[in-house]
Formats: sequence, C-alpha cells, structure tokens
Amino acid sequence: MVEVEYVKVKSVIYKVGMMEKVMVMMEMAVDDYAIDEKCNLYYKKSTSDRIEAKCGMEGCKWRIYASLDKDSGRFIVKTFKNVHTCSWNCKIRLLTARKIAHLILDDLRADSDLNARKIKKMLLSKYSVVITKTKCQKAREIGLKIIEEEHAEQFARMYDYVLELRQSNPGSTVILGTQNDVFQKFYICFNALKDGWKMSCRPILHLDGTFLRGWMKDELLTAVGRDANDQMYHVAWAIVDVENKINWEWFLTLLVDDLNLGVGQGFTMVSDQQKGLIQAMKNILPYAEHRICAKHIYENWKKKHKGSENRISFWKTAKAYNQVVFDKCLEDLKILSPTVHEDLMRYSIFHWSRCSFTEFAKCDAVENNMGEAFNSTITDAREKPIVEMLETIRRQVITKFDATD
Ligand SMILES: [Zn+2]
Repeated sequence: MVEVEYVKVKSVIYKVGMMEKVMVMMEMAVDDYAIDEKCNLYYKKSTSDRIEAKCGMEGCKWRIYASLDKDSGRFIVKTFKNVHTCSWNCKIRLLTARKIAHLILDDLRADSDLNARKIKKMLLSKYSVVITKTKCQKAREIGLKIIEEEHAEQFARMYDYVLELRQSNPGSTVILGTQNDVFQKFYICFNALKDGWKMSCRPILHLDGTFLRGWMKDELLTAVGRDANDQMYHVAWAIVDVENKINWEWFLTLLVDDLNLGVGQGFTMVSDQQKGLIQAMKNILPYAEHRICAKHIYENWKKKHKGSENRISFWKTAKAYNQVVFDKCLEDLKILSPTVHEDLMRYSIFHWSRCSFTEFAKCDAVENNMGEAFNSTITDAREKPIVEMLETIRRQVITKFDATD
C-alpha cells in the first residue's frame, strides 16, 4: 500500500486505498478534480479494470492510478502523486464532448436554443476552460439527444401515471392529450375536489398560468376556489404547450363540465390578463362575471401614470364599495388629470371595480392573489420532470386537506 495522500473533490475526500464502487464513479471523481482544481488532465488508460490519469502539461508528474480489485469488485487507488509543477493553460484534455454535454445539460434544458458560441462563452466564464466551437457543437447535439431520451422516458411513464390516477380515483377527470405520439397536454380534476367544490365552495374560481422550468417549456394552468372560510381550495390543474385562446378554451370546457358551470350564470372567474383568456371566457362562459386582477391593471396603467398620488387614487377607486363613492373617485381622478382618467376608462370597470362586482360570489377581492399564491407554493415542483412534478402537486394538495381536516 502506498502512503496516504488526499485530494479534495467537491465535498468528498478521496485518498489512496479508498475503494470506488464503479469505474464510472472513479472517472467522475477525476473529472471533477480536473475541473475544480483547473488542471489539464487526460486519461492514459480508462478501461473496465484500470484507470490512469496524468497531467498533460510538459514535465508535470501529477498522476493517479486505480485498478479493479477482483475480490471486492471495487476500484482501489494504488498510486496518487498529487503535486503539479505546471501552470494552468485553460484546457482540460479529458473533457470530451459527452462530458461537456453533461456539464451543460441543465442550461440546455432551460434553453434549447443555446448555441455553440454561447456554450463556449459559458464554459469559459463558469469553469475558466477554453473549448473549441466544434466540440461545443458536438456537446450540444449529445445534450439535446439526452434530453430527448429523457422526454421519451417521462412520456412513457405518463401513460402508467394516468392509468394509476384513473384507477385509484374513480370519477376523476384525467386527460392526456397527444399528437403523433408526442405529449401535448394534460388535465386533472380529482373527484373528491369536484364534489368538495360543488358542496362547500363559493361560486368563484381564480385562474392563473405559469411557466414550467424543468424539461418542458410548457405552462401550468390552475384553477383555485375559495371555501366557506375564504381559504384556498385547489380544484384543477393542467399542462399545455402554450398559453393561448385555444388552450384556455380547452381548460375552461373541462372545468365547466366537471363543476357543472353551464354558461356561467351566477358564477365569477378571477384572472390576470393572460393571453387568450378574455376571449376564451366570452366563448365558454358568456354569462359569467370575469374580474381581472386590479394589481395587473394598475401595473399597466402606472407605466404612463407614476407617482404616489396616482397610486392612492387608483386603489381608492378600485376598492370603492358603492356607486356614489366610485363616481366621486372618478371625478377626483378627472380633476387630477383628464388623461389619467381617460386611460383608466380604457379598462372595463366591470373587470376591476369592486362596486361593479356581482354579489353571487360573496367575495369582494379585486386582486387575484389566491391564484398566484397557488403557483408560488409549487415553485420546487415546477422544476421537476413531468411525473414527479404532477405527483408533488398532488401530494401538496392532499397534505393541505389532511392538515385542515
Ligand atoms: Zn500538472
């Protein structure tokens, strides 16, 4: 046995004599070392029973050698000369295109348009390493292939997941939409949530849409209700490729069916100014009241009309409880500035002014905080692959109900 020496690789300490379960892990440790310690290593040997890595700089004697111990089936580090006499030249020979692909995988998942030039720049700033554009291009192709395989695997799991949901939750609406065997959309409304909403919630739903950050660039649509205690009540959620009129119509049609909303008589929806939603609402729920989050209207309006005086006037107007107070607020706005008043009147008062709201919903909220609150509770879930993400949301919703029982 050689004398014990150490090399710190991330949070793990590797030392001579330490056994590695598999050759891959051993190689990964050496890769990490080269990246972390910034040295130009290469593999002199890398087989299923032997690994030898050396420093590629002239005259430098750094070397690690490990071989498979046949009795234990593990790799044992036999030689480790952890001294560099070289200086860093921003190159790491052992970084093959495949290894670079794994380094950039998360970035590629977030942005599939990441090109070779951007990858080269990113590797330089993140790891101080210079990689040729050709190698970056190759790494990109490998990375995209890996992501594609991940998608296929996740998608295959979706069929089983949907089947399991249907079998263990009879009466639930679980829809998986595909086109040419490619995932297109997903919708779920559990039977228990449908019944609970119909029996005990106010006739109001908060809608919201949010981007997913994981393997898909899709969007999550959610519908959240209010129970008798004015607490958040999750009703349904869906994944669509893009937020537009067609997808909102699809989501609303399923919701209408699940919750018996008819044409929307005596029913209220609250949303932000999502793409295509206003028109979809008009088509699917023509008789429903549609409130638009006053905070979003204010954000748009204030782009032209900044300042605390405008802000106070806006909220006083939006939150006015009766027509007399509302009219007075509008008059005051006109006095403040005719353009301020005119620009606010571009938004239908039925969308944002409390005194214009119907009484059916038994709710005077002028903002869509509840819809947004749901999305903020699932921040971590949004980054996961699709099945894990849907399971995390389901568990979160169920846990909440268990806690409030
Ligand atoms: Zn060296």
